[in-house]
Amino acid sequence: MNITDIFGMNVFSKSVMKERLPKKIYQEMVDVMENGGNISMKTADIVANAMKDWAVEKGATHYTHWFQPLTGITAEKHDSFLTAPEDSQTILQLTGKQLIMGEPDASSFPSGGLRSTHYARGYTAWDMTSPAFVKEMSCGTILCIPTIFVSYTGEALDKKTPLLRSMEAINTQALRILRLFGNTSAKKVTPSVGAEQEYFLVDREKYMQRRDLIYTGRTLFGAPAPKGQELDDQYFGVIRYRVGKFMADLNQELWKLAIPATTQHNEVAPGQHELAPIYTMCNLAVDQNQLTMETMKRVATRHGLVCLLHEKPYAGVNGSGKHNNWSLGTDTGENLLDPGDTPNENLQFLLVLSCMIKAVDIHADLLRQSASCAGNEHRLGGQEAPPAIISIFLGDQLDDVVNQIVSNAESIQLLAAHKLDSGVSTVPVLKKDAADRNRTSPFAFTGNKFEFRMVGSSDSIADANITLNAIVAEALCEAADVLEKAVDFHGACMKLIHDNMSEHHRIVFNGDGYSEEWVEEAQRRGLPNLVSMVDAVAALKTDKAEKLFTKFNIYTKAELLARAEIMYETYIKVMTIEAKTMIHMAAKHYIPSAIHYTTRLGQSIAAVKSAGVIADLSVQAGLLEKVSTLLATANQALGALKALMAQVESIQNVEEMAEAYRSRVAPAMTALRRPIDELEMTVDKDLWPVPTYGDLMFEV
Ligand code: ADP
Ligand code: MG
Repeated sequence: MNITDIFGMNVFSKSVMKERLPKKIYQEMVDVMENGGNISMKTADIVANAMKDWAVEKGATHYTHWFQPLTGITAEKHDSFLTAPEDSQTILQLTGKQLIMGEPDASSFPSGGLRSTHYARGYTAWDMTSPAFVKEMSCGTILCIPTIFVSYTGEALDKKTPLLRSMEAINTQALRILRLFGNTSAKKVTPSVGAEQEYFLVDREKYMQRRDLIYTGRTLFGAPAPKGQELDDQYFGVIRYRVGKFMADLNQELWKLAIPATTQHNEVAPGQHELAPIYTMCNLAVDQNQLTMETMKRVATRHGLVCLLHEKPYAGVNGSGKHNNWSLGTDTGENLLDPGDTPNENLQFLLVLSCMIKAVDIHADLLRQSASCAGNEHRLGGQEAPPAIISIFLGDQLDDVVNQIVSNAESIQLLAAHKLDSGVSTVPVLKKDAADRNRTSPFAFTGNKFEFRMVGSSDSIADANITLNAIVAEALCEAADVLEKAVDFHGACMKLIHDNMSEHHRIVFNGDGYSEEWVEEAQRRGLPNLVSMVDAVAALKTDKAEKLFTKFNIYTKAELLARAEIMYETYIKVMTIEAKTMIHMAAKHYIPSAIHYTTRLGQSIAAVKSAGVIADLSVQAGLLEKVSTLLATANQALGALKALMAQVESIQNVEEMAEAYRSRVAPAMTALRRPIDELEMTVDKDLWPVPTYGDLMFEV
C-alpha cells in the first residue's frame, strides 16, 4: 500500500472538482471557497450532481449534512439518494438545494434557550471552506457535507458558525497590521492549528463488564494496580502488537480522509497513546479532529478494543488532553509568529507577540473557560495536566528579550551575548528558540507557534480556537487603531510593544506550573485561578466577554448566555449520570459481592468450628470484621449519596444546581468510592464483579 495512493481518496477535493466539473463552475467554486460568497442555484445543482456521482462510485448510498451542535460532538442524519420509484425503478439524485441547505429538526439539540419551541427548526448550510467526504461506516458509505447549524432567526446553534466568524475577525485585524509593515501582497491571514490527540485503549470484553465505562467513559471505582506509571516505561515505549495493528489501521482510515496523521506514540500512562496530525487551517483542523476522534472509536471496535477519549478514565495515572498548536499564517506563506530573519520582521513579530501577551492576560478567564468540560475537571488543577491558572511560557531567550524591553534597555542583547544586528534601533534579530521543554505551562511559545495545552481529550477544539482568534483579533485591532494614526511608526510601534509587555508582564511565567509556590505567586500577581468549570463559565457572562465577542460579531449576547447555560446544564447531566451509575454499581455489583464474600467467610468459620477442629480462625475473623465494617461504610455512603441527589435535583437555577453538584455531590461520590476501593483490595478476586485497573490498563 502506497500512502500517496490512498491519501485523500475519500475527499471531494479541489482536484476531484477540477476533474469532474466544467471549468467555469470549478473556477466559481474555488473563488467562493477561497474568498467567501455564495454560488448560484444552477452551479449548486451541477456541483451536487457531480458530488453524488463521485460518492456513488465510492459505494455511497446516502448523504448527510454533517454538523457540530453544542453537544461538542458531531451530528448527522442520513438521507438516501433515492427518488420516488416509477415502474419499480429509481434514479439516484442530489439536488443543489439538498447540497446547500438542510432543515433538521433542531428541537433535540441543546440551544440554551435560543430556540423557542415554535421555532424548533434549525437550518444547516454548506460550509464550502471544508470539503465534502465519504465515510465508510457499518451502516454503509455516507457522503458527508460539512455544514453550519443556525436557528430560524439566524443564531448559531453550533460551534462552526462562531469559529468561521472568529477567523474572519482575525483575518481583518491581522491584515491591518501587515499593511502597516508595508506588506501589500498578503490577501488573507488564517489561523493554523495542529491538535495532538491523546487517548486510551481498553479491551472491549473487559470494557463491556464495566457499567461506569459504558455510561460515563471513565472508571468511577477502582483500586490502583500494583504498577502504574512510576517506572516511566510507557512514554515512547515499544508499541504493543494489538495497539500497533490498531494504529496502522487508523492511519489508513485517516489518510483516506486526507487527515495527515503523522505522529504516533505511547503516552505516559499504561494503555495511553497519542496521535498528532500535520497542522492545517483552523476550521479544517476542527473538523479533522472531530473525524479523528470518531475514526479512533470506529477502528478500535474492529480490533476488539474500545477507544476511551475521556479526560480521566483512571484515577491515579495521567489523564488525556489535547495540545492545540496555534499560529497565524498568510496566504503568501508567512507565519506571523515566526521571529523571522530581518529587523523589520522582528519588529512585527515582537508587536504580534506583545499583542498575544496582552490578549491572554486580559482574557485569561475566557481562555480557561474555553477548555472547560466536565471530564477536564479531573485534570486541570491536578498535578499532571497544566494547572487551571493561565500563564504564558516564552522560553529563556524570548523571556529575556521581553524582560529587557520591559526594563527599557537601551539596546537589546540576546542571551548568547552577541550584539544584535538590528537596522531598527533596539530590535534584536531573534533566532528560533528550540529550548522549550517546559511541559507544565498551559500556554507555551514553541518556536513559531503557541501551544495551548489545557483542552480536554474528548472536547471539540472549536471553543479554544474561537477564543484564541477573538482575543488576539481584539489586541491586534487595538494596536492597529493606534499605529494607523502614528506619525513616527517605528517609535509608536516600539512604545506599543513596551506598553503591552509591561502592562501584561504578570501573565508570563517560565517556572514550574505544577508547584504550590506558583499557585501563591499567581495569586499575588492577581491572575485568576478558576479551579472548576462551574466557576469558569461565569467568564462568558462578563461585560468584557460581551464587548469582545459582539465587537467582532462572533457571538451576540444571547448566544453567549446560551452557551453559559448549556455549559452548566451539561455539567449537571454528566454529574447526574455519574452519580446514578455509582449508585447502580454499588447497589447491584459491589455490595452484593462483598456480602457474598462475608457469607463465604462466615460459612467457612462455622464449618471449621462445627467439625470440632481446633484451629486459629483469627485471620478469617479479622477479614470478616474488616469487610463488614467497610460494607457498613459503603452502605451508609450509598444512602447519603441517594438522599443528596434527591435534594439537589430540586434546585431550580442551573448555576446553583451545578455548584451543588460540584461542592456537595462530588464529595459524596468520593465518599462512596473510598470503601468500595478498599473492599476491592480485600475481597477474593473471583468474587469481584468487574475487571480491575490492572486488567483494564495492562491487558490490551
Ligand atoms: P511537540 O513537541 O509538542 O510534539 P511538534 O513540533 O511535534 O510538537 O508539533 C506538534 C503539532 O504542532 C503538530 O500537529 C504540528 O503539525 C503542529 N504545528 C507545527 N507547526 C505549527 C504551526 N506553525 N501552526 C500550528 N501548528 C503547528
Ligand atoms: Mg505538544
